[in-house]
Amino acid sequence: MKKTVVVTGGAGFIGSHLCRFLLSKGFRVVCVDNFLTGSSVNIRDLMGNSDFVFMNHDVTKPLEIPGHVHFVLHFASAASPVDYMRFPIQTLKVGSLGTHNLLGLAKAKKAVFMLASTSEVYGDPLVHPQPETYWGNVNPIGPRGVYDEAKRFSEALTMAYHRFHRMDTKIARIFNTYGPCMRKDDGRVVPNFVTQALSGKPLTVHGDGSQTRSFCYITDMVEGIYRLMLSGVNDPVNLGNPEEFTVMDFAKKILELTGSRGKIAFKPLPVDDPKTRCPGISKARKLLKWEPKVSVGEGLKKTIEWFRKN
Ligand code: NAD
Ligand code: UDP
Repeated sequence: MKKTVVVTGGAGFIGSHLCRFLLSKGFRVVCVDNFLTGSSVNIRDLMGNSDFVFMNHDVTKPLEIPGHVHFVLHFASAASPVDYMRFPIQTLKVGSLGTHNLLGLAKAKKAVFMLASTSEVYGDPLVHPQPETYWGNVNPIGPRGVYDEAKRFSEALTMAYHRFHRMDTKIARIFNTYGPCMRKDDGRVVPNFVTQALSGKPLTVHGDGSQTRSFCYITDMVEGIYRLMLSGVNDPVNLGNPEEFTVMDFAKKILELTGSRGKIAFKPLPVDDPKTRCPGISKARKLLKWEPKVSVGEGLKKTIEWFRKN
């Protein structure tokens, strides 16, 4: 009998790749999404698959799933800063009420639960690179607080269910991930720079571009999530690519790879934009035998190709 995985946020960027990957590994997938920031286009090819079920549902409301469920992967949440600042209350609700509902579902089904957490739990970090032991530097009342605190609450709730109900829970602290199926207007740096470069427009660099990020290609991320899901690890694990770039160097790389002669246009740095970010991944290396395989150059070429076609 095939095992059933519930993927919330399954019509989003990471969620849709995860659904496809899990089907390829022989799982039955129940994808739950309300299309707040995702799209039916991302799962169009899966709709005819007899092992794939789609539920149009807002996970901040209780949900019932008939039959056995073996894994609940909670990936629903706006994830781009532009999106979560556009939907501040929904973001807080999906990370609190939504996480509570899905932990409840996993508990009732005796299923393994996984939370898609984020590097944003470290806020504007004062420790570099960020290990899982770092508690973070988050402004709870700033504009990013709606996302950061929702995820921190989600982590606390997940650990409480693990300790109190002895549930098998996982927390993936996901760092910046990119690839095909990102919405071209989601406001994140990869879709922005790639679409700007392809249309010959200036690349909008925030601040002076000295802030850093580290970018993980989607296939590597999905493999890491899968290994964590099947592991015996219950503490948070960072997943990301430790190759670090300043945003300015990243912009130049995209200009070079697209062959664009676009220029740079400087825009104000958003409030509380983290100055540095780089994952410490020794825990994932040791416990999951995982590390990213796709170089940023290789991943960006595939992503640029996808944006060109779409
Ligand atoms: P995304 O916006 O593409 O996908 C999120 C999905 O969740 C969308 O399909 C959206 O419609 C759905 N959703 C939102 N609220 C919902 C609700 N109340 N009920 C049902 N569905 C709802 O974002 P993504 O980049 O694919 O991120 C997926 C998850 O991974 C998020 O939880 C995010 O916090 C986490 N994450 C992503 C990154 C990254 O770089 N992509 C980094 C850190 C963490
Ligand atoms: N950024 C930028 N130009 C853009 C979009 C983003 O310079 O058009 C910067 C943003 O301010 C941040 C980094 O790129 O410093 C990554 O932003 P993103 O929105 O992708 O995600 P974040 O890592 O901030 O969650």
